[in-house]
Amino acid sequence: PLRCSKAPVIYIVVPCYNEEEVLPLTAEFLGKKLDDLTRSRRIHPGSRVLMVDDGSKDRTWKLIEELHEKDERFAGVKLSRNRGHQNALLAGLFEAARRRCDAAISMDADLQDDVDACDAMIERYMAGCDIVYGVRRHRATDTFFKRTTALGFYKIMNALGANTVYNHADYRLMSRRALEGLAEFSEVNLFLRGIVPMIGYPSDVVYYDRKERAAGESKYPLKKMLAFAIDGITSFSIKPIRLITTLGVGALCASALMIIWFIIGAVRGNTVSGWATIVISIWLFGGLILLGLGVVGEYIGKIYMEAKGRPRFRVEKFLG
Ligand code: UDP
Ligand code: MG
Repeated sequence: PLRCSKAPVIYIVVPCYNEEEVLPLTAEFLGKKLDDLTRSRRIHPGSRVLMVDDGSKDRTWKLIEELHEKDERFAGVKLSRNRGHQNALLAGLFEAARRRCDAAISMDADLQDDVDACDAMIERYMAGCDIVYGVRRHRATDTFFKRTTALGFYKIMNALGANTVYNHADYRLMSRRALEGLAEFSEVNLFLRGIVPMIGYPSDVVYYDRKERAAGESKYPLKKMLAFAIDGITSFSIKPIRLITTLGVGALCASALMIIWFIIGAVRGNTVSGWATIVISIWLFGGLILLGLGVVGEYIGKIYMEAKGRPRFRVEKFLG
């Protein structure tokens, strides 16, 4: 169903952490984009760029204040301290929803995501999509290391049961009702890429070419990347617990095979005294312990999922 012909109020949400080097350029690009979209009446003049300062230690907030003074279409939120990319993004999205935007587009501050893809996102939104994922067409500009680690990460995530959109980072459009859906996920360990697909509603993807960081350097060193990956996996899946159970069962089976093997050996008469009892008990008890851990883990996994208090459903339409 096509949305009503009125141009939507769009908020472009940009998390910024120590981005003083790139911010002026980003603001220039986004300002032009707003001009362009407003002039062609594709978005409402009340649309904004919302910068979220994630507790930066440099002049980032100062720059945001200056931008706002010069042009009221630049809005800002300052977090009390550094809370990480995902939390900064969420703060911006909630703020956008609170100000009653029709849709919010989230984008990194470093201009790696193609600003022009916004046009296609808004077009898909007007055509009735609630969530539009920006997907990278290729990663030629990323280093070989970043490319392979990222690819492995998507593969592992999906194998472990979190439905992430392949090659999609956090460049996406979300309608207001999708944002309201997101607000119902009250978990603290936030992994947006995994949660957003869980909201549901009609969605689509828009392809773009990923560019190099325009200025400054990556705020995701290996340490943060690993923490992010572990967070992502453990917030969506209790499969690692199942893995322990499987290991336990495997060890028990191995000990059973050994018992048979040693009995055959004893019947034939070639035994080393004491050897069989020790080896079998190691495997038998190892297996029992792992299995026990797995069973306890199964219950902890249930408690863990309950503790998240995730919404169980969200109504899309009513009839009658
Ligand atoms: N960022 C943030 N808080 C942090 C780390 C990063 O808000 O603690 C922002 C950063 O300013 C940028 C975005 O998250 O807008 C993505 O970071 P970056 O481009 O450094 O990551 P990469 O593209 O290298 O994975
Ligand atoms: Mg980047």
